[in-house]
Amino acid sequence: MLSNLQTRDVETLLHPYTNLATFRDTGPLILERGEGVFVYDTDGKPYLEGMSGLWCTSLGFNNRELVEAAAEQMGKLPFSHLFGGKSHDPAIELAEKLKELAPGMAKAFFCSSGSEANDTQIKMIWYMNNALGQPQKKKIISRQKAYHGVTVASASLTGLPANHLDFDLPLPGILHTSCPHHYRFAREHESEEEFATRLAEELDALIQAEGPDTVAAFIAEPVMGAGGVIVPPATYFARIQEVLERYDVRLIADEVICGFGRLGTWFGSEMLGMRPHSISVAKALSSAYLPIGAVLVDDAMDDALTEQSRKLGTFGHGTTYSGHPVTAAVALKTLEIYQRDGILEKVRAIIPTFQKRLRALSEHPLVGEARGMGLVGAVELVADKASKRSFDPKRMTAAKAVSFAQEQGLIVRAVANDTVTICPPLIISDEELEMLFDRLEKALDRTA
Ligand code: PLP
Repeated sequence: MLSNLQTRDVETLLHPYTNLATFRDTGPLILERGEGVFVYDTDGKPYLEGMSGLWCTSLGFNNRELVEAAAEQMGKLPFSHLFGGKSHDPAIELAEKLKELAPGMAKAFFCSSGSEANDTQIKMIWYMNNALGQPQKKKIISRQKAYHGVTVASASLTGLPANHLDFDLPLPGILHTSCPHHYRFAREHESEEEFATRLAEELDALIQAEGPDTVAAFIAEPVMGAGGVIVPPATYFARIQEVLERYDVRLIADEVICGFGRLGTWFGSEMLGMRPHSISVAKALSSAYLPIGAVLVDDAMDDALTEQSRKLGTFGHGTTYSGHPVTAAVALKTLEIYQRDGILEKVRAIIPTFQKRLRALSEHPLVGEARGMGLVGAVELVADKASKRSFDPKRMTAAKAVSFAQEQGLIVRAVANDTVTICPPLIISDEELEMLFDRLEKALDRTA
């Protein structure tokens, strides 16, 4: 029986990323307020937000300093833009701060989401290669199970069926190579290292087949998030980068989830040994208090864009909210808090407990693999542990586990049919972490 508010919701709202048919019967969980790592529904029931919303509210749900930073900037200059040479202090300071945090990056371009950031990446590479007199070098290689967003171009980069099916995607010129998930895709007796080498050889063969002079860039999340929290083998990016360097293919790091402390470092690239030419960020950049994304680019990209603009005039890309002063002020305050409060150090201190409790779940009869890195993890549920046989997707096993968790007062997320993901706010305490895993265990027991 739906409440009045739920009924009004299903009658009026078209929800993103939702089964639009079955949702009409169940209705939404309507949340009203948040405090620390907890959110509260309209009956006042608390839920430990084990997903930081959508991998994003790193500083929890009632950080007054972020609210005040927004209010102060709203009172001063609620809007201005960066078009045609205009600027403002929050955008300048934020760009400086990002440059300081991301070695090798020369400039920041602001937008409002991770999808827009990755869309911008593609447009910038195309523009760059036209500038460099190599207009045929335009193909982008992504990976199966990658998640890079939902705009036409970023959804094309995404390697998940739901983002392509009946949307007539991916766009031509966007290719997908194998997913570096050893548990699922390694051959029998293939070590992690051998698997990584094989995937690099496969990438090499793909670039050769397409023609190296047609391939512009390779995009990768350091740890794949929405595809199921997939951590590549330790040697994966080293092998992949050897191939990319051989063919002069740029590396884009999609740090939309891994950026700003999720793995215990400023960027996931540092942990995974990636040396990107450009970086996409969003989410934890503002602790998700306001929508912001950014593309960070190296000198080569900056020079190429500037040179082409000298020829063409306007660099014709950017939106009304690129570098919005209020979002920039909130992002700046977020970064200040990360540094001032030693949030990354705290994350590094709590990671061992998180990983220990996570790995212990692999003993559960339903769990085929418990995996993760830093403060992000997942359990993949299987019908049979020995053969790794998956459940029939129609059984919605992961979704059931998630709804049992919700009954227990824990929010986690089901992805890719069979995987439950965990990504708590970076400010989570030891005690809250124990509570998260206790509740998750109970939910898995009920699912079994
Ligand atoms: N890239 C990654 C790695 C993501 O996880 C996401 C969203 O989850 C995106 C891009 C898209 O970001 P947004 O939803 O802000 O458009």
